[in-house]
Amino acid sequence: VAAPGPRAPAPRIALTDLRAVWFQLTGTLCNLACRHCFNASGPREPWLRPLAAAVVRRGLREAEALGAREVYFTGGEPLLHPDALSLIEEALAVAPTTVLTNGLLIDDAVADRLVAQAAGSLYSLEIRISLDGAAAEEHDPVRGRGTFGRALAAVRRLDARGLIPIVTATEVSGAAGEPRYDRLRRMLVGAGVTRPRVKMLPVLPLGRAAEVDDGRRLTAEDLEGFDTAGLPCADARVIADGGVYACPILAGLAGARLAAQSLAEALGPASLYHAVCVACRDSGIACRN
Ligand code: SF4
Repeated sequence: VAAPGPRAPAPRIALTDLRAVWFQLTGTLCNLACRHCFNASGPREPWLRPLAAAVVRRGLREAEALGAREVYFTGGEPLLHPDALSLIEEALAVAPTTVLTNGLLIDDAVADRLVAQAAGSLYSLEIRISLDGAAAEEHDPVRGRGTFGRALAAVRRLDARGLIPIVTATEVSGAAGEPRYDRLRRMLVGAGVTRPRVKMLPVLPLGRAAEVDDGRRLTAEDLEGFDTAGLPCADARVIADGGVYACPILAGLAGARLAAQSLAEALGPASLYHAVCVACRDSGIACRN
């Protein structure tokens, strides 16, 4: 990784395959304001606005025409979108679909609707629910008081209906000793979850978790011998307010904007210009399931 100094042009990597199309459905509008949120989502004045349903529908048609094989809905909290459930159903007519949620809006009625949508589709529906700790004392300081119990209740609701959610946890600081992954899995089993699934993600130095920018940026030499095909920007594009962007992490940032609205015009190379690209390479993050 280059030390601060005269800056070489950022490396660019080609899209190998448009495997996944993401929609920043609610922009950065969220019912929580988590301590580590990489796009600083929250309940007030989202800096990235929600997408109009018509924009999502146009994106789904284009994704299908371009042969995309996965759809992801994220935010913010995507289930806050007034058309979220119908858009999920429409996405399931196009490709396997994943919803990234904090789970707080998944009551019995929403759980029933999601299960019915999954049952009625040729494609799979995955619900990723964020749980950043194996106990309220670990999770609630990050996500807000009472959120552990509510998110776990959503996991149990879906599990009980046979729609097994993926619990997504970030490596925020917590109890030492047994790895967070193992504690989460044990906690889920103890809570009666029949088939626990856990995905770990690193905390990204961006948004509310941003650290002081030390000026480090990737160079072409940093990527020598590194398999860039594993980077999210190698096989995905994101439709968010204001354009089509290189990856879910940088959605909404001008430097990652590749086209005004057309996926087909956003298939060119992505610039790995941002400080978070260093973390992305070092952590080997995979945004996909
Ligand atoms: S943040 Fe990661 S996925 Fe996004 S452009 Fe940088 S390296 Fe690619």
